[in-house]
Amino acid sequence: MKFSELEYQRPDLDLLKEDFFNQISLIEKAEEAEVALKATKHIQEIQNTLGTLSTLVSIRNSINTKDSFYEEETAFWDEHFPIIGEWDTAYYRAVLGSKWRSELENYLPETFFPMAENSLKVFSPEIIPLLQQENKLSTEYSKLQASAEIEFQGQTYNLPGMAKFAQDPDREVRRQASELVSAFYNEHEAEFDRIYDNLVKVRDQIAKTLGFKDFVEVGYLRMNRLDYNRQQVEVYRQEILEHVVPVVNKLYQRQADRLGLESLKPYDLEYKFKTGNAMPQGTPEEILAAGVKMYHELSPETGEFIDFMVDRELLDLVTKPGKASGGYCTYLPDYEAPFIFSNFNGTAADVDVLTHEAGHAFQVFQSRWIQTPECVWPTFESCEIHSMSMEFLAWPWMELFFGSQTLKYKFTHLSGGLIFLPYGVLVDHFQHEVYEHPEMTPAERRATWRRLERQYVPWKQYEADSFLDRGGFWFRQGHIFASPFYYIDYTLAQVCAFQFWKRSQIDDDPSVWTDYLNICRTGGTKSFLKIVAEANLKSPFEPGSLVETVQAIEQYLDDIPESAFQA
Ligand code: ZN
Repeated sequence: MKFSELEYQRPDLDLLKEDFFNQISLIEKAEEAEVALKATKHIQEIQNTLGTLSTLVSIRNSINTKDSFYEEETAFWDEHFPIIGEWDTAYYRAVLGSKWRSELENYLPETFFPMAENSLKVFSPEIIPLLQQENKLSTEYSKLQASAEIEFQGQTYNLPGMAKFAQDPDREVRRQASELVSAFYNEHEAEFDRIYDNLVKVRDQIAKTLGFKDFVEVGYLRMNRLDYNRQQVEVYRQEILEHVVPVVNKLYQRQADRLGLESLKPYDLEYKFKTGNAMPQGTPEEILAAGVKMYHELSPETGEFIDFMVDRELLDLVTKPGKASGGYCTYLPDYEAPFIFSNFNGTAADVDVLTHEAGHAFQVFQSRWIQTPECVWPTFESCEIHSMSMEFLAWPWMELFFGSQTLKYKFTHLSGGLIFLPYGVLVDHFQHEVYEHPEMTPAERRATWRRLERQYVPWKQYEADSFLDRGGFWFRQGHIFASPFYYIDYTLAQVCAFQFWKRSQIDDDPSVWTDYLNICRTGGTKSFLKIVAEANLKSPFEPGSLVETVQAIEQYLDDIPESAFQA
């Protein structure tokens, strides 16, 4: 079946609810294991149907935001999601308390149980008003961000619209644009402070009401960190500080030399080459055709996958009027079909869609045997291993996209991943400080951020921008407001993907593909460290585990001559 032919009808939720709760009581009262097992499978069928229908609606709504039918259906699902969440909670309670639990453990993946327990631990009816406040404050933050109207060069821009000026060849343009963005945050400092201060207080209260020491504990449970703790994360941050920060510092020095600047100002950091960034060649159709050729040559499994995606219209890649912005990969369980959405714009980001988002899609396609919806995708830090590693496994084909600019692309890709690591762990470290000391004032929080910036990102020297110099940069990092502790995940996945890069590019390790394929099949049925071990990767939490990989990256980047960037 093709995507356009998939039928949608709004389900009768009352009927489904009755069926769902009948199955729950069967699990609770079952006199035989068989009965509990059958009821569990039946519940999963309902969950998968609900997941398929709501995902179908959100895909079609994002493809055409002007279609009023799917707009209305989106509103319907938004309204009912919290209610369906309560069905799941009741189901988790029944399974966890079942006298047939050990029989159910033979059917449900091992990650299901701790995740179900976590979702119960972080919820109690008592905290409903606090959760509502938390949501309201998050929404206020996005509204405040979206309210920015910045006048520049005779036009009005929102914040994402200002981003392109960070790569403008004219230094004065970069400086002015960066000042204007800063001025917006400076002007609204009191509002950002109020929102975040309230968020911290509400979250601290949530944690204490639930009986936890601090919100850090709740944050880890919400993120389903199944097999590592804050001490291990601390070791890892220290490793980044020791082994990555010096290499990134060197990369920025090289960038300054390349640009002929004495030192880089914060507004120079994104501007890498006077000749501009590497750009893919060809029309969107040609780029997709190159992607199809690449996946056919990479392995039989990726060949089958890309044909499945193309034949069934599961890729919506090109920008068109009415389409929502951004890009994503999602999954329709009843059709065992991934879906990729993007807005091709002629930059290297188009190729990232075909490697990164397709990496997610390939994983979920290999995981389609998993009937437990909670365990199809792994937790976030593991999810991004699949996508970020595919970006590197696709390297031998980059000439199809970038031609003579291939080395420039590879340099930007590899160094970009490395440069991100210190910032990524800084965001994490900051949040630990914030929630371990909820009594801090907004000014103390800013001072904490600036102190950590000096450690992790010493190349950011703001002397000319007093707002940033007081520690205001993090106002623009949405995760800090809306998704606490969701950030270090990207860095953990990146250092795992770097190991795949080294094994495939430097060591010619013949088992790379099998290891990668294995963890794609594992999906979310295992926890992070088990996935890492299954892929024969080193745990990022072991002291010294990053050293060899970072050295190999440094060497590889050093060996690329500046002359490669002329084109
Ligand atoms: Zn991703």
